[in-house]
Amino acid sequence: MEHHLPKANAQLADANRQLIEAEALRLGFAACGFAAAEPVNEEMARKVDHWVELGYHADMTYMERNRELRFDPTLLVPGCRTLIVVALNYYPQQPLPKEGYQIAYYAYGKDYHRVVKDKLHQLLAYIRTLMPDVKGRAFCDTAPLLERYWAVKAGLGFIGRNRTLIIPGQGSYCFLGVLAVDAELREEPHNVSASCEGCDRCLKACPTGALTRDGIDCRRCLSYLTIEHRGPLPIDIRDKLGRRIYGCDTCQQACPHNSHPTPTSEPLFTLPPAIASLTPVQWQQLTPERYADLFSDSAIERAGYEGLRRNIDAVAR
Ligand code: SF4
Ligand code: SF4
Repeated sequence: MEHHLPKANAQLADANRQLIEAEALRLGFAACGFAAAEPVNEEMARKVDHWVELGYHADMTYMERNRELRFDPTLLVPGCRTLIVVALNYYPQQPLPKEGYQIAYYAYGKDYHRVVKDKLHQLLAYIRTLMPDVKGRAFCDTAPLLERYWAVKAGLGFIGRNRTLIIPGQGSYCFLGVLAVDAELREEPHNVSASCEGCDRCLKACPTGALTRDGIDCRRCLSYLTIEHRGPLPIDIRDKLGRRIYGCDTCQQACPHNSHPTPTSEPLFTLPPAIASLTPVQWQQLTPERYADLFSDSAIERAGYEGLRRNIDAVAR
């Protein structure tokens, strides 16, 4: 949708946008962009509907609900006019050695929902110094909002065949967050020329064949199965775990856009030494009490003790 602001308002919106982007970068975000809040296009809505029809969302039944809200952020946040989309790099300073048990990079640190939202609230406070009456709501993976779609609309990058948002020059190891505000901040024209053209490395690298042309089949995805899934792991999938006890980074590691990742400067995303130093035997001896000590407020808490125990036992077989 094109925006036609009067010239003076447009200049003010341009200036505010630049200031907000600079503040977002100062807060540690790797990228920041702006998208007009409006219903998602039909192509996107069709793709999401089809993905759900195929059952690729596995047990995430919440994907079957709130369809209207998911496809229109102005229903999710009445009055919102702009989505400010940010990316926060989580690539670890020190990845775990390959021979040890593996945890997905995104889960090394503190619960990212809180970290990203805290920063978005700081960004909103800054925006209020420019526009005191602005109202906004921060989101990070906690509401029916198609974050990757909005990241593309905001000019941050493109969605790769591995279904991650890829930021040219930076890669995909980023959390996405959205600040929905009721101020009009004109979009810039976006021209992201990078793509997956001629590449299928992630498709070949996926150990379970979960990547399809219709998206990720979560019923086969090690990331979903080791984190979100409750109950036993499917037997054929268990054999593909390798040393992964929480999540899977394989389709991101295979991606040429991630060949030279920059480590995060966010200290909250560092794997605590007490976890980094656990040997496979110590992982296998993990008790509920030790789990509570080590993982309170960690992203790994999501699987719960039972989920992590199940994964460790499957890897240790
Ligand atoms: S996270 Fe792992 S299992 Fe899931 S699609 Fe990527 S490579 Fe495949
Ligand atoms: S590995 Fe290749 S096909 Fe897959 S997301 Fe990266 S560029 Fe795209």
